[in-house]
Amino acid sequence: MFKGLMQQQPLMISSIIEFAERWFPKVEVVSRTVEGPVHRYTYKDMGARARRVANALSSLGIEQGDRVATLAWNGYRHMELYFGVSGSGAVLHTVNPRLFAEQLAYVINHAGDKIVFLDLTFVPLLEGLVSELPDVEKYIILTDRAHMPETSLPNVICYEELLEAENDTFEWPVFDENAASSICYTSGTTGNPKGVVYSHRSTLIHALGSSIPNGLSLSGNDSILLVVPQFHVNSWGVSYAAPMNGCKLVLPGPMMDGASLHELLDSEKCTLSLAVPTVWMMLTGFLHESGNKLPHMKRVVIGGSAVPEAMIRSFEQEYDVQVIHAWGMTETSPLGTLNFLMPHLQELDYEEQMPIKLKQGKSVFGIDIRIVDDNNQVLPHDGEAFGKLQAKGHWVTSGYFGEEQSDSVAKDGWFDTGDVATIDPDGYMMITDRTKDVIKSGGEWISSIELENIAVGHPDIAEAAVIAMPHPKWDERPLVVAVKNQGSDVNKETLLQYISQHVAKWQVPDDVVFIDELPHGATGKLNKLKLREEFNDFRFS
Ligand code: AMP
Repeated sequence: MFKGLMQQQPLMISSIIEFAERWFPKVEVVSRTVEGPVHRYTYKDMGARARRVANALSSLGIEQGDRVATLAWNGYRHMELYFGVSGSGAVLHTVNPRLFAEQLAYVINHAGDKIVFLDLTFVPLLEGLVSELPDVEKYIILTDRAHMPETSLPNVICYEELLEAENDTFEWPVFDENAASSICYTSGTTGNPKGVVYSHRSTLIHALGSSIPNGLSLSGNDSILLVVPQFHVNSWGVSYAAPMNGCKLVLPGPMMDGASLHELLDSEKCTLSLAVPTVWMMLTGFLHESGNKLPHMKRVVIGGSAVPEAMIRSFEQEYDVQVIHAWGMTETSPLGTLNFLMPHLQELDYEEQMPIKLKQGKSVFGIDIRIVDDNNQVLPHDGEAFGKLQAKGHWVTSGYFGEEQSDSVAKDGWFDTGDVATIDPDGYMMITDRTKDVIKSGGEWISSIELENIAVGHPDIAEAAVIAMPHPKWDERPLVVAVKNQGSDVNKETLLQYISQHVAKWQVPDDVVFIDELPHGATGKLNKLKLREEFNDFRFS
């Protein structure tokens, strides 16, 4: 081999905070705290405190590869742990506090967490679980002495006191870039959650890959309101990408209602924000009621579930904010595809662009996708054929923590996402369903997601789920379970009539049931499994 003569350095997460501290020392990180007040400091301050965290972990006997958990909202202390824990060689396990109690205990035990750092909010939650967590050695509460609660948790330490006792001199170690840096568990609706283990290398490349103009297009001009939780797939990687690009970072803490988010968007002049559709529903609801606008916002990234058309129109036409529809999953770090319009599509008029905007978008460099049929044969990019969506790339999982072999990773290295999708000739991927949610009617597949999107396009429908119900003749037929907007008089007939204007006759659902609230899982997504259980006895009349 004729070898290149370039320097080789392992890709280390610590290099991000070192860089931000040195080159963006005055850029602010603003956090709404659990204690109440808004806290402000800079990347320079964050770097110094992350080194204190690293020193503290060493004093507490944490070694390279040890797992350290957090149960915390988005905030500056959580950021310090992102860098202090992973940077020092330990592995950050960001626990999703919205998991059911048994699942919480399961993931903490499965990961083998030695220390749990927790926000004040979660003290009662862990007090109730402590007897089931034999391996946890210390509970460190993310607050100062004045706010330390009375607690029955054993071996409790106050975070601010812990940091005060350390100094901020610490050499970040350099080690194999393939070493584990963090773990997130998938919030699977069936069976136990599964651990996805990210490496320094995958995390760094993901942060670079998601920063580019065809990605989140991050720069020092951005002030980012990071709503997507730091316990949900590393906050979509933005906790790393923001300091890498010198972006101002605004962290909303526990307050995710429309009024609180708007207050931060306005006061911190945020240009970009990221969250799931449910959060944006709360924000746009607040904006409609209060008459407020979004004068500083330029882009909003929406992912985690499909973006309803009404939401795209509302952001783009009422508030002049560009919607970036994104698809990804815990197993893909999460960025898979992003919807950016290619030049020939920008020339189309708005109505013609809308069907494309509703798609989940195109791959960014670093992750590849394909669709295959049941025999693993690759399907064409014709926008019609739909099949199992698979992914492959630098930040796609090769298996699950503690599992010898995963059925999800095909022999040729492609990861089976569990989604069903089409890809059009321009490369725009569209999720048509989860493999397990698709409605199989007389040998034909009906997309539950497509029907849901249409149903929520009705002005009187707040939220809708479509599930397969057994049918004596067709095997399965779609049932709509919907939540009405307050005060609306929409009924079954008018909703079905509306849906029938958008789909073929055989795809129109057979019935509609209105309920007050749909069940959601730990990451705010519709929990269709629960819904199916609730409708177990339902029969089409
Ligand atoms: P999670 O690992 O909890 O982030 O869930 C990942 C799953 O969420 C994906 O496999 C999809 O089923 C779904 N998902 C994520 N983003 C989107 C999107 N933009 N549209 C539709 N489904 C999505």
